[in-house]
Amino acid sequence: MCGIVAYLGERDAYHVVLKGLKRLEYRGYDSAGIAISADDQLKLFKKKGNVSDLESFIEGKDLSGGAAIGHTRWATHGEPTDNNAHPHLSSDGSLAIIHNGIIENYSSIKQELINKGHVFKSDTDSEVAIHFIEDIQKNNHCALDEAVRIALTKIVGAYAIVIADKHDPDLLIAARKGSPLVIGVGKGEYFLASDATPIVEYTNEVVYLNDYEIAVLRKSGMILKNIEDVQTNPYVQTIDLELDAIEKGGYKHFMLKEIFEQPKSIQDALRGRLNAAKGDLALGGIRDYVNRIVSADRIIILACGTSWHAGLVAEYFFEDWCRVPVEVEYASEFRYRNPIVREGDVIIAISQSGETADTLAAIELAKAKGGIIFGVVNAVGSSIARATHVGAYIHAGPEIGVASTKAFTSQVTVLSMIAMIVAYKKGTISQTRYHELLAELETIPSKVEKALELSEESEKIARMFSDATNFLYLGRGYNFPVALEGALKLKEISYIHAEGYPAAEMKHGPIALIDEEMPVVFIATRDSSYDKIVSNIQEVKARKGKVIAIVTEGDVLIPKIADYVIEVPVTNEALMPLVSVIPLQLLSYYIADIRGCNVDQPRNLAKSVTVE
Ligand code: GLU
Repeated sequence: MCGIVAYLGERDAYHVVLKGLKRLEYRGYDSAGIAISADDQLKLFKKKGNVSDLESFIEGKDLSGGAAIGHTRWATHGEPTDNNAHPHLSSDGSLAIIHNGIIENYSSIKQELINKGHVFKSDTDSEVAIHFIEDIQKNNHCALDEAVRIALTKIVGAYAIVIADKHDPDLLIAARKGSPLVIGVGKGEYFLASDATPIVEYTNEVVYLNDYEIAVLRKSGMILKNIEDVQTNPYVQTIDLELDAIEKGGYKHFMLKEIFEQPKSIQDALRGRLNAAKGDLALGGIRDYVNRIVSADRIIILACGTSWHAGLVAEYFFEDWCRVPVEVEYASEFRYRNPIVREGDVIIAISQSGETADTLAAIELAKAKGGIIFGVVNAVGSSIARATHVGAYIHAGPEIGVASTKAFTSQVTVLSMIAMIVAYKKGTISQTRYHELLAELETIPSKVEKALELSEESEKIARMFSDATNFLYLGRGYNFPVALEGALKLKEISYIHAEGYPAAEMKHGPIALIDEEMPVVFIATRDSSYDKIVSNIQEVKARKGKVIAIVTEGDVLIPKIADYVIEVPVTNEALMPLVSVIPLQLLSYYIADIRGCNVDQPRNLAKSVTVE
């Protein structure tokens, strides 16, 4: 949530920062702003709305300068207004800050500063931080970086901040705790951003700032220190991120591009890990720890949102194949309820961005209780990737559409591989079944490709139901988490109320909602509960509900009962979520697009949930 960008160097800083804000807009888009430090002044422009509103507002103004900071906001404290937009200034106007996160003790600090005569222009916690730094600098007569350091020893909460000083345009100060911040290292120039996407077109050398680290940047070099004032050595890494991975490549929306990328992204998750013909399956990242899962008494999966749904699918894998009990926990609940973590427990944390604040905090808690943590993460070098003991990247590439699609299928792919390895080592599945599963998993990219070829079917059905006000999604077994995911996708981007339910559970409540207006999506592929779900479809039809069914190709029974069907290729029951989710992603995409919704930037949502 929230995008931070900053630049220091010889280029036109405004253009670098504005372009960066556009790349980060998926992280927050209720307001945006830029401050440029030049000629002993801070040129400040901020506006409610998205980055293009800011751009039109700025047109024609003097934007010269070699240091700039910019922000696209996802409001936590104070409504999205021009005044609450970042950057925020110190009371004498000489310092400007951009901030991602929440300063939890802002209100007591604010009161203290008000008592000292400070006047605030916004309702944000972020403005308090810059006034606080200014106050410390004035009282202690110290350098700005020292004032920042002292302030951060007193600030409670999460932050990634960048500060510019109008009296020192060759200086940017950055710090982080809990919120992401990456520094791109160029020749005599630095690029700062919440993630690497605004940086890669200039340099692939980056430094990921660690919690409690402060970076003091000048064109001549960077100094890193921690808040105890101990200097640390910057660890410069080379990242491998192609520019086309973060551009739309001819698609109308990132989400659509990412849906269609899935044959490739799943293949990338399998690459170098699976070779069914040779019977090889290995995940280098977890090799040394795999026996910990093999001997686990219990697996606890921690995640939020779509990743939580991937975790539910994994629960079925681990219980079915590995015969180990699994609990799938919302990270936000787990972290606040004194959970029981025993010695034999293994924790698997799943996150696309690797920055999800609740998941990160839940990991820290589980670690403190002695748990061993496996990460299943997309963003390389992210906080969660670094906080876990061991992990496997899903290699889905940048996911920019706010509604997660390809990350889900890649997460499920990686989790299935972990479970297969563990089951094989434990001897809880037969050799034959193991080899069948490997072979089947290898075919998934081409089956997803085939499911995508039927996108027109989803589009046609979307046209019929784009005015619906409610949807019900029902599935059983492995397709139950898919029902939840289908409903979530629809809610997120089309604002239609949707609920996902285990199909049999419908009789305990949701069936009361069914009438001739109610579209009910059944994920009814051929599996061990096929006959049961056919009965559930009959129950809905008996009440005049409109049934849209996702079926296995060649199904002759359900097309006779359902109003609309979309076929998907046949695969193993356990791997079906990777295929059956595709038409649901497409359905929600087309419905949202037909309704004129902003698919990539849905109302109130933002990617990378870095606040709790
Ligand atoms: N808490 C700050 C605000 O409400 C920053 C929010 C963000 O991360 O965008 O302005």
